Amino acid sequence: MDLVAYVDTVPASGETVQGRQFRQVPGGKGANQAVAAARAGAQVCFLGAVGDDAFGVQLRTTLVDNGIDVSGLRTVGGPSGTAHIVVDGDGNNSIIVVPGANGTVTALREGDVRLLDGARALLLQLETPLSGVLAAARAGRSLGVTTVLTPAPARPLPAELLDCVDVLLPNQHEAAALTGHDDPEQALAALLEAVPEVVVTLGGDGALYGARGHEPIRVPALRVEPVDTTGAGDTFCGAFAVARAEGQDPESALRFAARAAALSVQRPGASTSMPTRPEIDAFAD
Ligand code: ADP
Repeated sequence: MDLVAYVDTVPASGETVQGRQFRQVPGGKGANQAVAAARAGAQVCFLGAVGDDAFGVQLRTTLVDNGIDVSGLRTVGGPSGTAHIVVDGDGNNSIIVVPGANGTVTALREGDVRLLDGARALLLQLETPLSGVLAAARAGRSLGVTTVLTPAPARPLPAELLDCVDVLLPNQHEAAALTGHDDPEQALAALLEAVPEVVVTLGGDGALYGARGHEPIRVPALRVEPVDTTGAGDTFCGAFAVARAEGQDPESALRFAARAAALSVQRPGASTSMPTRPEIDAFAD
């Protein structure tokens, strides 16, 4: 659950500031990407866990309301995962994630593997324990499912996980943390040594795509007035995965994702800001 405070200036350590507004918005990277993909036109199954608290009920309802299959979503004892988000006057955000129930997603169950069988894409991120992510990636690889990993929150990635990833999709901060290169092109080249395809998202500067043995492709962001960029990367990821699963080539998938993300940054919140397929198709780039 995203607990979002809107402020003019983010407080420094020890400082207290007055916020302008508070919003409670269903979130979580995995859930956001699931909603983004569902709204972009895919049939989506969600694997994960919520707590047995009021947030858990709301989180489950949000997925169901977006037409997502929640047969792989467990309810476990204790609190749901929470993200404590501060959005400043320029629409930039900083986030603290407390895992809660997400910390229990350490392995796959048999039913989870059945849900994966026949899928065209598997979206993974790192707000759940690495062992669960690795189990899903291995199952995806053995079933021939295209796996897209968003390495966030950024952390070192074991080679056994990277070996099962088809597309790595970091933002520029995560790409820099993973490679030590602030320059996105250098980071892209370094990451392509570990995985066959990489997309580095660059916020208002768009995205940089690379595939081994091909020239990188740079896709600009659309010129819009951002209100809240929370969830922009998740919207981009969900839409990109849908476009690729539909067979679009990398460049048109990147443009489709950029349109979806540009629509999302013009509205407040994360999952609440994600556009539907007709909206994405109608938004000219
Ligand atoms: P994250 O949300 O993971 O930090 P980014 O900030 O890189 O990801 O944004 C992801 C994508 O969202 C970008 O590649 C771009 O297409 C779109 N986007 C982000 N910020 C803006 C903006 N200010 N204007 C238009 N599009 C944006």
